[in-house]
Amino acid sequence: MTNSEALSSEALAELRRRYRLERERRVRPDGTRQYLAADAEFGYYAADPYAGGTVEREPLRDGVDVAVVGGGFGGILAGARLRQRGVERVRVIERGGDFGGTWYWNRYPGIHCDVESHVYLPLLDETGYVPEWKYAPGEEIRRHAVRIAEKFDLYADALFSTSVTSLTWEESSQAWIVTTDRGDEFRATYVVTATGTLSELKLPGIPGIETFEGHTFHTSRWDYAYTGGTPDGGLTGLSDKRVGVVGTGATGVQVVPKLAEDAGHLYVFQRTPSSVDVRANRRTTAQDVGADHDGWARERRDNFLRIVSGETVEEDLVADQWTASAGLLEKLLPSFHRRGDRKAFEAAYEVADAAKMNEIRARVERIVADPETVEKLKPWYRYACKRPTFSDTYLQAFNRDNVTLVDTADTHGIERMTERGVVVGGTEYALDCLIFATGFSVGVSGVHSGKLPVHGRGGIPLLRALQERGPRTLHGFTSNGFPNLIHLGAAQSASSVNYTHVLDEHAVHAAALIAAAEAEGAVIEPSPEAEDAWLAVLAEGAPDHAWFHAECTPGYYNAEGRGRPNAPIAYPHGAFTFHELLKRWREESMDDVLRARTPAQP
Ligand code: NDP
Repeated sequence: MTNSEALSSEALAELRRRYRLERERRVRPDGTRQYLAADAEFGYYAADPYAGGTVEREPLRDGVDVAVVGGGFGGILAGARLRQRGVERVRVIERGGDFGGTWYWNRYPGIHCDVESHVYLPLLDETGYVPEWKYAPGEEIRRHAVRIAEKFDLYADALFSTSVTSLTWEESSQAWIVTTDRGDEFRATYVVTATGTLSELKLPGIPGIETFEGHTFHTSRWDYAYTGGTPDGGLTGLSDKRVGVVGTGATGVQVVPKLAEDAGHLYVFQRTPSSVDVRANRRTTAQDVGADHDGWARERRDNFLRIVSGETVEEDLVADQWTASAGLLEKLLPSFHRRGDRKAFEAAYEVADAAKMNEIRARVERIVADPETVEKLKPWYRYACKRPTFSDTYLQAFNRDNVTLVDTADTHGIERMTERGVVVGGTEYALDCLIFATGFSVGVSGVHSGKLPVHGRGGIPLLRALQERGPRTLHGFTSNGFPNLIHLGAAQSASSVNYTHVLDEHAVHAAALIAAAEAEGAVIEPSPEAEDAWLAVLAEGAPDHAWFHAECTPGYYNAEGRGRPNAPIAYPHGAFTFHELLKRWREESMDDVLRARTPAQP
């Protein structure tokens, strides 16, 4: 279908019909329950293959100014911004063996960031680092995380291979008691939680998964001892192996070309194809990205955020597929349709969406040789239904003789596993190794998951407060009843495809709150009235995403086809406006959130 045909109402109606059919073919009655967590008998899937064993240490019984839960970019940025405010005792507690979060765990072959490195890597101005590629490999990003932690002296007090097990507000000391799975019990005047969103790996609940006698692991715990090689490839251990990979999301798209290069034979078990657009990665110089003056990275990052938030800019500095497709991805932000009639906007949006997806499907036809494989690789849904992906090697991998695409849509995924391999459509595929690129559970990490019990003022559990009152915050960061506890994340704030930028703005805000509380001798705790006012802002003009996601193929964006119950209510006007709002609020007054410290109990 050409783009001009896509503009006709008949073509649009046909697309709608096809999208509906493809969705119906995939929705499963068990929804999010189809997955297994990596615990109990599957706990070994989550073990840390990179830490090189646990270093024994004595449990801590001391006190710090700030405990930061999580050592990914959120925690690192919180630490860095606190240091800039002169806070001395900052202790980051991290489950992994080092800083890096996502980039610590995900080291699979082919891993890259799909957001431009010059806007994704934070604190480039502050560290003087200029990335070498437009889209950086994972290891470069992980090393940058370490660079920031070193520069801001976060290693001194950090606890690695340690999980926080509880946070309890102690009225008498006006501090949090932090306990961990290493027997620590220490006090922190403030706690910042930065526990991430896609941090708990999930496995498909395939019948018989436990019977398979070959080797298995998840992409976020890559077993280089088995495969050989590095994230750059050279997986010599696979040269005589029949390897299967389950999953063709953003991870699958990056890992498949590397596996294809080295596996004896590769079977790609696909349920829903990703949209795979042009990558065009290339080496960059400081000159290419205008890294010739102070503040260049901040300007570039702001420029990117403005564009993907629907703001008008004079020049598109990043000029890639994200900025070109910004209107399709953030389509429901009021900034994209505030100038026109909503219905007309949605009609125009559907046409642009169809044109984009036709282009994506035509790309499959151009690159892939086998007509049957072409049909299987074409995505039939709207652009923003699933995370778009970008690759100049993924589709090409299916032209290799040692690669077979096995479509599992008709059976809602792999049917079952046996001792020898996997069964799809009654055919058994014998395998030596099966790699799960099956992603992560959403909303099950950190303080909202029940895995990290939090007891606030008067011993009230955070989860009970959430059940009884619903989520209530000021700006997404702080809640009444939970003094000096600051959450970084998207709930009741705003997010963006460039998530590290969002985290940095949140870290700046958290550090400012803590600095103000220190200066005033106060605690950080919003009044119920301030929370009410913020909830009213969230409700006003909140874009209705439900209709859009209800029509999408299933995935973690729409709770496996059930709409979007997992999505936290977000600030309706996008990340750019949200950051401006926070800045103004900090400049004008922080009174809404500072309270007198309760006198210590005798
Ligand atoms: P996803 O959840 O996006 O993909 C999981 C894949 O596993 C899907 O293709 C899914 O199919 C498939 N799957 C699940 N169960 C089965 C089954 N029973 N049988 C067959 N297939 C199955 O996880 P990813 O790890 O790919 O990506 C997660 C997120 O991580 C991304 O959306 C992105 O936000 C981030 N990411 C970012 C990168 C970056 O460069 N910035 C790189 C990689 C990831 P189906 O679609 O049908 O459910």
